Amino acid sequence: MWLRCPNCSSHDVGKVGSDQYYCWNCFIEMTVVGNRLNVHEIKVDGSLISLDNLFTDEERTIH
Ligand SMILES: [Zn+2]
Repeated sequence: MWLRCPNCSSHDVGKVGSDQYYCWNCFIEMTVVGNRLNVHEIKVDGSLISLDNLFTDEERTIH
């Protein structure tokens, strides 16, 4: 699968888990659920903050 970061449009996205990807450009994590991306920011303490509300459904859909 070839992903583009919905936040910065970078293609510098690496796979870090079975359904998880990480943008090395803006440091957000993406989890693939069906044909949608759930977007998270990883805080310094390791907790995740959902960024889904920053993007439209269209932006989070994998084409
Ligand atoms: Zn990015």
